[in-house]
Order: sequence, then C-alpha cells, then structure tokens
Amino acid sequence: MHELGIANSVLEAVQTEAARHPGAVVRKVAVTVGELAGVDPESLAFSFEALTTGTEWQHLILEIQTRPRMHRCPACGLDFRVVDYQFACPECGASKTECTGGDELELAYLEMEEP
Ligand SMILES: [Zn+2]
Repeated sequence: MHELGIANSVLEAVQTEAARHPGAVVRKVAVTVGELAGVDPESLAFSFEALTTGTEWQHLILEIQTRPRMHRCPACGLDFRVVDYQFACPECGASKTECTGGDELELAYLEMEEP
C-alpha cells in the first residue's frame, strides 16, 4: 500500500528530528496533502496508526492538511480552485489555465515539547 510508505517516511522524519532534540517529546506532526498527490488521507491516517500502535510513537498525533487543486488564468491573472474538473476561468472564461497547486506532499510542521 502506497500510503503505508508515506506514513513510514513521515515517521522517519519525526524520528530524525526527535534525535536532534534529546529529551524533547514530539506531540504532533502535520503533513500537507494536495488533491493531486494521489494520497488518500483516510488510509494515510489508518496506516500511520497501524505503524505507531504499540510503539513509543503511539501518542503522536498526525494531522493531515488537505490542499485543493488550484489553477491560475494567464489571461486575467485570477487564482481559483478547481471543482469538478472545471478548468476554465470563472472570471473571463478562458479555457487554458495553468495548474499552480494541489500536488503537495510534504511535512508541514512538528510540535515538540522541550523538557
Ligand atoms: Zn481569466
């Protein structure tokens, strides 16, 4: 399962960061997942839980921030959210617009408690 690999990378990143702050406790990790990233947030959450249950990381909270698919219209400069595959500009009607976001898959932040 694809999401299990991602959950694993997230956990590895947390472990690396935790190793840099001896004694600190990581409470929360947030990841940004774009609509186009091909990741199912629910199965990512499930995979993460499966991975951490029964380990020292089982109290770590995973926050998944989803990002919509965004397009920009080169004709009028409007940034808009794509809904139901409507790629035409809602402002001027231009049919050729550029994808500017929604394929993110990255670590957003970590929440740590220093001793
Ligand atoms: Zn436009």
